[in-house]
Amino acid sequence: MADSFDAIVIGGGPGGYNAAIRLGQLGLKAACVDKRGSFGGTCLNIGCIPSKALLHASERFHEAETDFAKLGIKASVQLDLPAMMAQKEKVVGELTKCVEFLFRKNKVEGIVGEAKLIAPGQIAVRGKDGSSRTLTAKHVIIATGSDVSPLPGVTIDEDQIVSSTGALSLKSVPKRMLVVGAGVIGLELGSVWKRLGSEVTVIEFLDRITPGMDLEISKAFQRVLTKQGMSFQLSTKVTGVEKKKTGLSVTVEPAQGGQKSVIETDVMMVCIGRRPCTDNLGLETVGVTLDKRGRVVTDAHYRTNVAGIYAIGDCREGAMLAHKAEDEAVACAELIAGKAGHVNYDAIPSVVYTFPEVATVGKTEEDLKAAGVQYKVGKFPFTANARAKTIMATEGFVKILADAKTDRVLGCHILGAEAGNLMAEVVLAIEFGASSEDIARTCHSHPTLTEAVRQAAMAVEGWTMQM
Ligand SMILES: Cc1cc2nc3c(=O)[nH]c(=O)nc-3n(C[C@H](O)[C@H](O)[C@H](O)COP(=O)(O)OP(=O)(O)OC[C@H]3O[C@@H](n4cnc5c(N)ncnc54)[C@H](O)[C@@H]3O)c2cc1C
Repeated sequence: MADSFDAIVIGGGPGGYNAAIRLGQLGLKAACVDKRGSFGGTCLNIGCIPSKALLHASERFHEAETDFAKLGIKASVQLDLPAMMAQKEKVVGELTKCVEFLFRKNKVEGIVGEAKLIAPGQIAVRGKDGSSRTLTAKHVIIATGSDVSPLPGVTIDEDQIVSSTGALSLKSVPKRMLVVGAGVIGLELGSVWKRLGSEVTVIEFLDRITPGMDLEISKAFQRVLTKQGMSFQLSTKVTGVEKKKTGLSVTVEPAQGGQKSVIETDVMMVCIGRRPCTDNLGLETVGVTLDKRGRVVTDAHYRTNVAGIYAIGDCREGAMLAHKAEDEAVACAELIAGKAGHVNYDAIPSVVYTFPEVATVGKTEEDLKAAGVQYKVGKFPFTANARAKTIMATEGFVKILADAKTDRVLGCHILGAEAGNLMAEVVLAIEFGASSEDIARTCHSHPTLTEAVRQAAMAVEGWTMQM
């Protein structure tokens, strides 16, 4: 006999588990199925959380090695990589268990197994032990997330040729690491291993790093990373890899073709993007439409073309970010429960957790130029911020873009320490339709890095007071 629910969520990542929790809160009988064996999806198991644990630990290691002496602290520093990895695993274990607790609290049934749609509203679940179960529900949310995009002709062995997953668990610090792809994940994990002692070279097909980011910020970011010792080969592609007894020979050539050259390395990390997980889900059986990139097509209410089937998170269009998936989860669950769920896609921040961090929200200058929007720019460098000086974090600047006529904040881009946290107030400003003057006239604590955001807002109207 089939187990019946009001709603079943396929996938237990930030999209899936938050949707199931919100459905439970709203009084619906909900289940969340994930095949991984622990809930939390890519984010908690092999993404945001383990990468941030290693970024934090490696940043402290690097700081202790290089900056402590400047602060008058003498320390002899040694790396204990197994302990660093164990701390990361501990955090992952605690947070994935937390999802199970939240399921129990909100009466969500968490089911471990691979789900497949066999008809609209009907799902077959195969357990790891070969057991099977059929579930039925009026509403089904697809939240199956994304997976690493492969590099044609290159086989990932998660040892010498790794994806982000393998790069989170290397057993030793490679002498040389080649990062293929200068996007967020490649630069974050490249930074981890650089700080721990690897020589890191980044290969990027495009003529710039972090595609889509405000170009001025992106260029400044590359300069900072180069100063830290990372090297970049832009407009370059990898065309082959040969495994040697002691390392790899990687063949590269200009993106548009031309003279080949060989780079010797110990580990190659492939980070050329992620693709939606929409295979083997039975979507073709029930007739759900996918786009050219394999993403589930939905309307603004996350409904697919098949009644009762919805999609959220990385498996549909939009930025592949945990908090975007989470916001869509809440909106989708509320819409299913008859409420007015909504996501403001102009107010979804994005952060690169390197040091310094990069945070962005809203429109870039390039977006505004392309759309013909008249805008004003306000900038403020961290070299002129008192707190930044005291913590020796003066690199970078805040850039605010506001509508030339209405002064409404349209975008903000920050390169600097704590950029991710600093951005929260600008996201709120955009959400509330605030003007740059609203930020400029809001009191900010002294001495904090947040004052740089305020000063950048003042600079929009030309009255920065600290420069
Ligand atoms: C190294 C790395 C670092 C990242 N850092 C950040 C960051 O700092 N901030 C940020 O916002 N984002 C980050 N991301 C991206 C973030 O992890 C994703 O955007 C987010 O996890 C997407 O959530 P989701 O719920 O859509 O999918 P996922 O988290 O991918 O979860 C989908 C789940 O569905 C399950 N599943 C798939 N098919 C089936 C099936 N047939 N049956 C049952 N279960 C199934 C999978 O096992 C998986 O657990 C990072 C990603 C990586 C790889």
